[in-house]
Amino acid sequence: MALIVQKYGGTSVANLDRIASVARRVIASRENGNDLVVVLSAMSGETDRLIDLAKKINPAPHEREMDVLISTGEQVTVALLAMILNNLSVPARSFLGSQVKIITDSAFTRARITEIEKQQITDELKRGSVVVVAGFQGVDGDGNITTLGRGGSDTTAVALAAALSADLCEIYTDVEGVYTTDPNICPNARKLEKISYDEMLEMASLGAKVLHTRSVEFAKKFSVPLVVKSSFTNGSGTIVTGEDKDMEQVVVSGIAYNVNEAKVTIRGVPDKPGIASRIFGTIADAGIIVDMIIQNVGADNSADITFTVPRSDLKKATEILDGLRGELGAAEVIADENIAKVSIVGVGMRSHAGVASEMFRALAKEGINILMISTSEIKVSCAIERKYTELAVRVLHEQFDLGDDAPLVTQEEL
Ligand code: ASP
Ligand code: MG
Repeated sequence: MALIVQKYGGTSVANLDRIASVARRVIASRENGNDLVVVLSAMSGETDRLIDLAKKINPAPHEREMDVLISTGEQVTVALLAMILNNLSVPARSFLGSQVKIITDSAFTRARITEIEKQQITDELKRGSVVVVAGFQGVDGDGNITTLGRGGSDTTAVALAAALSADLCEIYTDVEGVYTTDPNICPNARKLEKISYDEMLEMASLGAKVLHTRSVEFAKKFSVPLVVKSSFTNGSGTIVTGEDKDMEQVVVSGIAYNVNEAKVTIRGVPDKPGIASRIFGTIADAGIIVDMIIQNVGADNSADITFTVPRSDLKKATEILDGLRGELGAAEVIADENIAKVSIVGVGMRSHAGVASEMFRALAKEGINILMISTSEIKVSCAIERKYTELAVRVLHEQFDLGDDAPLVTQEEL
């Protein structure tokens, strides 16, 4: 008898038929002798619809109220699934994050889980019920409803799996698993059989949308066995797991891209201690997350500092730099929205030389100019002009031989 946490995303619960199909999957797993905790997203499009409503009232809605609003989508789907299961004579009970309780900090719209009270869930499981939990939401120490950031239901599922020491966490979505890159750009992208937590973490934070980044952090930290698979077929999915020897043989496992960053440059700052600290201290105090950073010192001993921030924070970052310009004696501040970041990811990079240069060569061959470079042990990222994103992804996918030449096998629908 195993304890399994299953999570179903928005397209898997998009309407009553889809929720009924989720119920059939839950029942099948139960009939195999498993205890089940099921975490659901809102119906696809629902969270966006709610956000749009709020923005009609105020472009920057009050964040506490925003969470009261956008957590409602998940309340609908968990109740409906529990009803369908009950109708089929399978005992099931739905719970909101605040009922479980999934306790978070008070950072509305991007809260972090701090603790999970599991008594209620374990009691229900003992009674033989399927426990259905609303994803994406929690409650802070003062009883306020919070949400975990877009895509946060994955994190609810993995955190529950960790707290309950589940044997497996299955993330059901509308694709077959984790691919070498976005199949919309490279139709021959290959589904990976398995990927390491670290690679998945890089892929997720670099823009691959299949898993919420925080969920992968949790999975890694608590060694939660994780599988990403489709709720539309019976494919085996992709296992996300600890690193093993085979994984090191593959130099590059995937190509990720992100078109949601922008770059900003402050030109002609003095080349002396304390300047970077002043700039990035102020940026950090404003809660802006910085990704790539480069600094060049010219012959005249003045420096240019360029960095990237989420596009939604570009205006704020530019204003901050403009504000610092006088104090620092900088020449000018330049903002550029038209960038994209393409990255190659693979644990094999740790033990192979020349990977970055191969990436640069492939981009150069297509005349794609590299604006910025950043690296970690298992990734190399380049900022390029945004209009070249798809070309760059295709060229890199080809260069590192990631494509599958065999046609995709389509699985029969459930
Ligand atoms: N419904 C939320 C969203 O759309 C959370 C999730 O689906 O994971 O972002
Ligand atoms: Mg998602």
